[in-house]
Amino acid sequence: MEGEQFESDTVRQELDEETLFVVSQTFKALGDPTRIRILHLLFHKECSVNEIAETLELRQSTVSHQLRFLKNLRLVKYRREGTTLYYSHDDEHVMLILKQVIDHACHS
Ligand SMILES: [Zn+2]
Repeated sequence: MEGEQFESDTVRQELDEETLFVVSQTFKALGDPTRIRILHLLFHKECSVNEIAETLELRQSTVSHQLRFLKNLRLVKYRREGTTLYYSHDDEHVMLILKQVIDHACHS
């Protein structure tokens, strides 16, 4: 791959501390198998905590914990319907990164 595609302004500038923090937190978010599975599930549809827990065979408390982490980083959002919270992804950049890395892991 050529370096051409990285020649944007944000790549030329030195990273300030806050940006660096958010970038490292974002990779931390993507560095956990459970969080990857949750985000992957939210690629195409929104899910309740229950649905996520059942589909991925995880405890609800585990799912809630990870969703809070992802929500703090604004990678997921929710809407409330009665007493149920429906989660969906909230950032195209990070979902694109996740897709790229999954594709990377699957190509030979
Ligand atoms: Zn690759």
